[in-house]
Amino acid sequence: MPDADLIGSYWETTVPGLPVDPPLAGERVVDLAVVGGGFAGLSAALRAAGAGASVAVLDAHHIGWGASGRNGGFCCLGGTKQSERDLIRAYGLGEARRFLAYQNEAVETVRARLASWNTDADVHSDGEIYLAHSQRAFQQFAAEAEFLETRFDAPARVLDRTALSDAGIAGPEFFGGLHVPQGFALNPMKYVLALADQVRLAGADIFANSLVTSIRRENGAWRLESPDGTVLAKKVVLAANGYARERVPAWLHGRTLPVMSSILVTRPLSDEELAAQGWTSDLMACDTRILLHYFRLLPDRRFLFGTRGGIFESPGATGAMYRRARKDFNRMFPAWSQVEMTHRWYGHVCLAWNLTPFVGPVPEMDGIYCAMAWHGSGVAMASFSGERVADLALGRIGPAALPQAVSQPFARFPVPALRKAYLQAAYWGYGLKDRLT
Ligand SMILES: Cc1cc2nc3c(=O)[nH]c(=O)nc-3n(C[C@H](O)[C@H](O)[C@H](O)COP(=O)(O)OP(=O)(O)OC[C@H]3O[C@@H](n4cnc5c(N)ncnc54)[C@H](O)[C@@H]3O)c2cc1C
Repeated sequence: MPDADLIGSYWETTVPGLPVDPPLAGERVVDLAVVGGGFAGLSAALRAAGAGASVAVLDAHHIGWGASGRNGGFCCLGGTKQSERDLIRAYGLGEARRFLAYQNEAVETVRARLASWNTDADVHSDGEIYLAHSQRAFQQFAAEAEFLETRFDAPARVLDRTALSDAGIAGPEFFGGLHVPQGFALNPMKYVLALADQVRLAGADIFANSLVTSIRRENGAWRLESPDGTVLAKKVVLAANGYARERVPAWLHGRTLPVMSSILVTRPLSDEELAAQGWTSDLMACDTRILLHYFRLLPDRRFLFGTRGGIFESPGATGAMYRRARKDFNRMFPAWSQVEMTHRWYGHVCLAWNLTPFVGPVPEMDGIYCAMAWHGSGVAMASFSGERVADLALGRIGPAALPQAVSQPFARFPVPALRKAYLQAAYWGYGLKDRLT
């Protein structure tokens, strides 16, 4: 059956309407200006306004337009593309443990927020399951579980194919699972809109359709220019992530790399269709490929299927990305290969050269702070790091309060103009490795 007329983000259809915040007009003077109204920027604004600071959030579009309103809704551990072993090598075991504790705190911060705001964000999934895409990947799970348990005191449970199938998780490419208890799934649009409501309640101003075109020093403050207005701020938080402008401010040039992640959503599936595939679990799942797929059965029985790996954004390239996603879905869920998708969309995630986020003061730009580069896992990480960066900006904590893994200012990519091209070459290599391992 052909896919229906695909209409963009499914999440937008699950909320009564999108917020209409005014654009910035005239001149404002504030304690803190925030560039970007996603999880990171709004969380920074909420924290700072709660501490009594005057705050202006500027977003080029409306709240929920960026990745925070378009993601898969996995509120999970993550934020880096470095493995635990890499982190131990780079920072030592103590710091690697600290970073994992930070990730856990991030997940629990989102859980506590939803509870304290009484927000129904369609939460489900008790932890997350990684599914081995090959027998060889499955054979590594036992050692991985032991490593996590002994080095990080983090429990993880291995499920063989029979146990997986008993848990309502089946597919020809799932050779076994590794279940971690941390994390849960949510509707990201409901969460980000609730977060914005809290920001407004706390007294911060949100300005939509207010692209910041330049940030420069003026009389001891920072001047942010937008088409119809200006903000003069003592402190600034950069939270534009995968949508950041290359030179706003100049320091950012060549230091981050936006890549695409795309999502397909099916129409609601019947009991018979779920049984035919053998998938009835509400656990959020991803596979073990480097260019991973992430998927989950939504509470309304639609199936959400996400892929990574798009680099170029031309209509031809995004069309090919969707076709590849559909092909992968058909192969991984053959019983649903004729089920039509009703929605598809994509968005930007943000990579850094050293594959870790940066939450801290921008070198040589006194008063400017950065909270960016969640490497495709920012629901929890951006939310919590937004709070932390506001604490830094307000002088409530020092940089040593954060794990070293998030405290290293972004290095510049070698030959920045070519960074998409060499990532493309790396992706071809990863694709090959995924097929061979
Ligand atoms: C398809 C997809 C699926 C994903 N799935 C998951 C998932 O399941 N779990 C997970 O943890 N993470 C996931 N992510 C990643 C996650 O969504 C992001 O890491 C997170 O939302 C980033 O939040 P943020 O606030 O840093 O940035 P964003 O939400 O992207 O917000 C940045 C904002 O900055 C604004 N902006 C940029 N430049 C300017 C400027 N100069 N002036 C004014 N405004 C500006 C943009 O308009 C944008 O709204 C996914 C991402 C995508 C795209």
